[in-house]
Amino acid sequence: MNNPVRVRFAPSPTGFLHIGGIRTALFNYLFAKANSGQFILRLEDTDRERFVEEGVEQIIKSLDWIGLHPDEGVWYEQKPGEHGPYIQSQRLNHYKDYAQKLIDKGLAYYSQTIPEKIESLKAEAINERRPFVYKHSMEPTEAPASTRGMPIRLKVPDGKTMWKDEVRGEFESNHEIIDDFIIVKADGFPTYNFANVVDDHLMNISHVIRGDEFISSTAKHALLYDLLEFDRPAWVHLPSILGPDGKKKLSKRDGDVNVLEYKAKGYLPEAILNFLALLGWNDGTTQEVFSPEELINKFNIGRVQKSPAVFDVNRLDWMNGEYIRNKLSDEELIEHIKPYLPEAWLENMNYFKTVLALDKERIKRFDEAKYIMEIFFETPNVDKALLCKKDDIDTIKSWVSEVVKAIEPIDFEHDQVEKALRELAEKLDVQSGRLFYTLRVGLTGRTEAPGLFDIFVTLGKAESLKRLQSL
Ligand code: GLU
Repeated sequence: MNNPVRVRFAPSPTGFLHIGGIRTALFNYLFAKANSGQFILRLEDTDRERFVEEGVEQIIKSLDWIGLHPDEGVWYEQKPGEHGPYIQSQRLNHYKDYAQKLIDKGLAYYSQTIPEKIESLKAEAINERRPFVYKHSMEPTEAPASTRGMPIRLKVPDGKTMWKDEVRGEFESNHEIIDDFIIVKADGFPTYNFANVVDDHLMNISHVIRGDEFISSTAKHALLYDLLEFDRPAWVHLPSILGPDGKKKLSKRDGDVNVLEYKAKGYLPEAILNFLALLGWNDGTTQEVFSPEELINKFNIGRVQKSPAVFDVNRLDWMNGEYIRNKLSDEELIEHIKPYLPEAWLENMNYFKTVLALDKERIKRFDEAKYIMEIFFETPNVDKALLCKKDDIDTIKSWVSEVVKAIEPIDFEHDQVEKALRELAEKLDVQSGRLFYTLRVGLTGRTEAPGLFDIFVTLGKAESLKRLQSL
């Protein structure tokens, strides 16, 4: 690569940054870091009708939390960089200048056709079942008295545009199907297509890496590069992200939400980045867990896949669990789960740590810690139907008095408890699984919990017996 690598993430603050947007930011970031390049954050806020004020702050906070810090561009305070401002609404002079250049060359024009007329032309086309493509020939012939309030359209020449995607290969569009699209709107703001190209040029962007929903606009971009006599960047379109059924596009319900919601639920940014890196890329092996540094070392565009990626939140939970177990010290884990727990639980730190050691394996998200650990801190409500699923309450009560006798005299540690209870099952002539089910539900109110003998030992003799005797 001759030119320095410069890539940008260019969200539009028309809403909150979702998890899919973070995947785009991540691929740009990894590519920049892998090639000693620059990662730029630019805000594309020219759609004033859909502009969401809080969107800007949320984008910055999300990228900050997840750890994708730009080298240049918009940040809490503007980051230094020679190509600013990096907010499009502050760059209107550039778009105006380039639109004027196109007009001067006869490649763009103020469009006189009023929106109502366009609507009726469109309706006519639909009626006649032909595509509607607005062309200069549809303009009134007399020159306007004033161009005030008129949008500027590109005068698309005859011919065709070819462009290449680094992942998907060559594309070709015949200009017959490209309309004279608006480059500057009646309100004086540029359209996305125009501002995007002007800025990528002025900011020396070498690679445009973005979601594949922009493939259909890229012929227009390529044409603009050519007409403006700019060098084209390389284009890389990332595969779309599908919901867990592998058919429909990822929706809000499947987890395509504001990434700060992931923070609130107790996911680690590193786990999310690791998970997102694998949505459309792999290193050619079966490795699944990659540190951020490893991702940077291994990332390359050649391994970005064409086919859609499937977003499976269970896989994310698994990944997060891996990070919790393997990358966090107990102290760090405690700091993370603390906000989700009643303060009183942490008063006896030794006890808390014993419980945590038992439950750590099962915590996949910080917000689950309360439910998982609760049985060691609160007396459970035991559902009688669950308790008596295998045996009736009288039988269970008779077992409990035997359990009391069997464990009262022993040393309360795992193997002793196990031995006493197994012997008891034999003595009672009941299958151990059946007895243990009852004891587990009796002690915790649940069928799923850590190992039974661990539960006894952790709760301690007095508390265990108290719970069983109150059944
Ligand atoms: N502003 C566009 C968006 O909202 C950016 C598209 C691009 O990267 O070119 O996603």
